[in-house]
Amino acid sequence: MNPKNYTGPLGAYTPQTRGNGMFKEFDATELYCPKCKRSAPVRKRLLIVLPEGDKYEYLCAVCSESVGTKIDRQTKPVTVIV
Ligand SMILES: [Zn+2]
Repeated sequence: MNPKNYTGPLGAYTPQTRGNGMFKEFDATELYCPKCKRSAPVRKRLLIVLPEGDKYEYLCAVCSESVGTKIDRQTKPVTVIV
């Protein structure tokens, strides 16, 4: 999970089959796009790193509309000691 590996420019859809073996969890590859009015392949973009996980935004690969966000929780639960 290295954001620096993400070099995809707008419009390029990167398949998950590159040498990065970390993607074994479920990942949405198609979401309904309100602009295209159909489900379309999406691109995942790291928005922000939160204490509870990395927040990603899904962009329609066709028109680059934002179609959803998701928080990837880290494998280790963060324990907050108050
Ligand atoms: Zn679209």
